[in-house]
Amino acid sequence: MTQLTSLSRRHFLAGIGASALTMPTLTVPVYDALGQPISSQSGQDKKIGIALVGLGSYSKNQLAPALQQTQYCRLAGIVTGTSAKASEWMQKYNIPQANVYDYKTFDRIIDNPDIDVVYVVLPNSMHAEYVIRAAQAGKHVICEKPMAITEKDCQAMIDACKKANKQLAVGYRLHYEPFTQEVMRLGQQKVFGPVKFVEASDAFRIGDPTQWRMKKSMAGGGALMDVGIYAIQGARYVTGEEPVSVTAQFSPKTEPQKFKDVEETIFWQFRFPSGAVSNSTSSYTAGVERLYASCEKGWFELSPAFGYGPLKGRTSKGPIEMPTVNHQAAHMDGVCKDLLAGKALPNHITGEEGKRDVRLLQAIYQAAETGRSIKLA
Ligand code: NAD
Repeated sequence: MTQLTSLSRRHFLAGIGASALTMPTLTVPVYDALGQPISSQSGQDKKIGIALVGLGSYSKNQLAPALQQTQYCRLAGIVTGTSAKASEWMQKYNIPQANVYDYKTFDRIIDNPDIDVVYVVLPNSMHAEYVIRAAQAGKHVICEKPMAITEKDCQAMIDACKKANKQLAVGYRLHYEPFTQEVMRLGQQKVFGPVKFVEASDAFRIGDPTQWRMKKSMAGGGALMDVGIYAIQGARYVTGEEPVSVTAQFSPKTEPQKFKDVEETIFWQFRFPSGAVSNSTSSYTAGVERLYASCEKGWFELSPAFGYGPLKGRTSKGPIEMPTVNHQAAHMDGVCKDLLAGKALPNHITGEEGKRDVRLLQAIYQAAETGRSIKLA
């Protein structure tokens, strides 16, 4: 995994001042969520127009509210199959009828100059189709995690974006989150010496057993596909290495009626080229959210580590102190700032990164199903 160019601590601390934007008297310089002085953005009034595809829970509760706080992008359009949702969103977010599509009319987005980016927020198995159609309509794309349910689909998505000369980002919001960036730095720069082992786990107790997350054909699997991917990412970004082999085990199901189609709990272990190892749990039956790295000369951890925050961290030398940001606003601003500048997106959030994780997700399932160690390198 490529080293992040982390923003300086000073900029992050100054970034807290962004909330001051809403204050009536402004006497100090103001910085945005990316640590960029607002004043240096003068003359830049163009904001990237984003259309959200799929107005479910993540779009409604996280992305749309975050788009009210962003500096470099705005909610410009919606794609939904439910006309009642379309009316509600048009009114709430002042979206013109011309920027509202359903799944059939979606491809007409090609003629809409108001929309620069299509953000695919659909069930996992639908990501590939909509990313490819968005690229064919000449739009940059942000695709939620996991990027797809097969590596083959990921490649088709990458190829479609390349062919259309458009950029493809994955919804890896934590790559723009200060606590996460700090543990990336601590691990990758060996601040406590080389990382020796990592414990990275993400799990929660799922509700409605009829939702698409419980259907293998739509989700690609169970908890591993949904939140285990954060633990995979965590192990990769604190070591800064790619795993060379994986072993994995399914736990026996305690609620077989509920988990007919997908795993309930899964454990896996990665081995990294340096000799570092990681151990992870993901589950839909009970919760855990922790990223811990033990190094030659100390340790560091985040807990909670992967949710919407506030994240919390400490090291063997004391607490990690970082500002709390809106993850989704920081992520979309980070991507759109680069798009506005005509820059290539950093490797660690592109489709290639998403494909790497999907390959690992599939290898973990293969290891659990066969009981064998799967070579990755
Ligand atoms: P959701 O079930 O709340 O929403 C899914 C949306 O897709 C709904 O609007 C639904 O109407 C629409 N849809 C269209 N066709 C559908 C079909 N055939 N079956 C089911 N739904 C259909 O799901 P969500 O929680 O918003 O998740 C959507 C995506 O976002 C997933 O890929 C998920 O992994 C991802 N996600 C990411 C984060 C994050 O932190 N990055 C958080 C939550 C979800």
